[in-house]
Amino acid sequence: MENSRIRRLARPLSLIVSLVFFLSSVALLPAQQTRPARRLSRGNANSSAVKDTRPRLVLLIVVDQFRYDYLTRFGDLFGSTGIGRLLRQGASWTEANFDHMPTFTAPGHAVFMTGAWPSQTGIIANEWYERDTGRKVKSVTDDSTVKLGGKPGEKGFSPRRLLCSSMGDELRIADGDRSKVIGISAKDRSAILPTGRRANAAYWFGTDNGNMVSSSYYFDREPDWVVRFNERHLADHWYGARWDRLLPEAEYLKRAGKDDVPWENLDKSSNDTNFFPHVITGGSANPSRPFYKALDYTPFSNDLLVAFAEESITNEKLGDDADTDLLTVSFSANDYVGHRFGPYSHEAMDMTLRVDRQIGTLLNFVDARIGLRNTVVIFSADHGASPVPEQAALMHLPGHRYQKADLRQLVEGGLKARYGRKDRPATDYIQTFTNKAETESGLINGNFYLNRAALKRDGIDLDECERVVGDLSMGMPGAARYFTRAQLENQLISPADPIARRVMNGFYPARSGDVIVVFEPYNILFDLPDDPTDPLSTATHGSPYSYDTHVPLIIMGRDFATGRYTQAATPADIAPTLANLLNVQVPSCSVGRVLSEALIKQSSKHRPDSR
Ligand SMILES: [Zn+2]
Repeated sequence: MENSRIRRLARPLSLIVSLVFFLSSVALLPAQQTRPARRLSRGNANSSAVKDTRPRLVLLIVVDQFRYDYLTRFGDLFGSTGIGRLLRQGASWTEANFDHMPTFTAPGHAVFMTGAWPSQTGIIANEWYERDTGRKVKSVTDDSTVKLGGKPGEKGFSPRRLLCSSMGDELRIADGDRSKVIGISAKDRSAILPTGRRANAAYWFGTDNGNMVSSSYYFDREPDWVVRFNERHLADHWYGARWDRLLPEAEYLKRAGKDDVPWENLDKSSNDTNFFPHVITGGSANPSRPFYKALDYTPFSNDLLVAFAEESITNEKLGDDADTDLLTVSFSANDYVGHRFGPYSHEAMDMTLRVDRQIGTLLNFVDARIGLRNTVVIFSADHGASPVPEQAALMHLPGHRYQKADLRQLVEGGLKARYGRKDRPATDYIQTFTNKAETESGLINGNFYLNRAALKRDGIDLDECERVVGDLSMGMPGAARYFTRAQLENQLISPADPIARRVMNGFYPARSGDVIVVFEPYNILFDLPDDPTDPLSTATHGSPYSYDTHVPLIIMGRDFATGRYTQAATPADIAPTLANLLNVQVPSCSVGRVLSEALIKQSSKHRPDSR
């Protein structure tokens, strides 16, 4: 009843501009808050009511690369069931920022359910140089596991590099593993990291064969329902599909400029255009690897995840009983599209409008099966996106694109000039390593990894060399500041300096580099963090600036008062807020705060339910 009343009320409102959205949510506030008082009929307010009122499902919805301003730029075009519903009925924070850098996918996804920054989770980037083994590793690399559902014998992934407990872990520890915890995404790290170390399962999209794949970390073989899902070859249904705009082109021209612009580069193998419509084949004659990779860059990949999430809710009976389950769904396609076309593109706008509808489909499914009033829905993003540098320049912002090879060469040359002698060429002070049979340099994520063995051999002091490398880096156009390991380890920077604090929160000694270079706003050092196979990445993210740190944070559930909250918040606040709500131990490294401004007080929460 309540839901349909709100829905009837909501439909006409969805047509009104975004500002009115927020006003309307405030207008709904009194009605929602008086709800407990009207429901005093059954009179069973004893201790068991505490259990009865716990949500049956916590649903974390992440959209990979979703800037906060997508809510304000496109909010009036959202429908009534997805993000539009979350904005109207949920508690929405307008000033939620990540407080770490680099703002990449893996570190961001590790924050939501641990309540902790990379300095504690250890997830400092998507990949980094591992000093112990002398190789580059991904955040979820685990050679002791095998991939399930992919090519036979392929190495798998796991959350073993995540150093903190998660909400899912704490839920399962508290109730003897009766809670189920499942993660779903197109990306391995985005399925694995939010669910944590004790999760039942994580599934992601395998671009080798179009299957939803997993890891032997969780089980010896994928459950039968997953095998059946994969046998349907759902991904193949989109082979040759045409992706066109959801709404008339005029709406896009008004909000995102021209469609066919020179900076929207394309991976040559995709056989695609940089304007609508996009026909999805990946340049291959049948559904095979190039097609599955191309599918990642389309909204259809999100449709696949919704279908799989629905299957997992049904088959795993998520939300069926009083032991709160946790499902995390991370939509990756928005990030791939954002990288390729940039945040001010028709494609990014269309992905945003479509993911609103896709989230609506998922929420309607959850409502029909579990009931949204038995569910806490959290909506956020792992990072935002920087404008395409060339486009930023046209906007009179100081946009510029830099390649990391130029920075490396500048520093290498400077080190040689400073330290080189006839008997000591000083050409190997920046660490190198072999990756996929190629020699790579230890400049990763804007971090210089120094070759400590070489420095020791030549009697060079590490701290001094860090400063030298930092000073040399400042000779690079666009470079703003540098931080050295010595500074960060000895707390020689002030947390009141927001950039320094974000660097410090992103620094984990055993995994981070020795010198961290920060560029000026809109000046991007292209490091290709997300898809190294796509060398023509148009736009990216990773900086400590608000276009990368400022993200949506919305929580919808009967324990949260509808409204628009202007208090400063971070995605690290989600886990301690949930721990408080669910009466379980706060995850081990949590530094976030309880979002108490929106939490309806415990005293009024344990109320009898009239339905
Ligand atoms: Zn990305």
